[in-house]
Amino acid sequence: MIPFERSLPYDIVMGDVYVPECPFCLKNQVLLSIKPADITMAREGKKKLLVFPCCGNRVVVLDSDNDYLLTDTVVRG
Ligand SMILES: [Zn+2]
Repeated sequence: MIPFERSLPYDIVMGDVYVPECPFCLKNQVLLSIKPADITMAREGKKKLLVFPCCGNRVVVLDSDNDYLLTDTVVRG
């Protein structure tokens, strides 16, 4: 179970990873630099730095499930 306030919903579309809304600048449908394989590896314990291309904010992805990335940062109030 991923803590809600540090979870970031994501979608995979045609092999690309999107977030519906950036938690920092609120831009919609942000294409991320990480790949679906990175999300799988996060689930296996390999941390991944995620830099938002829209605003340059960074979080570390610590874990994931089918819908959410668990980050080291509070991304939802
Ligand atoms: Zn942003």
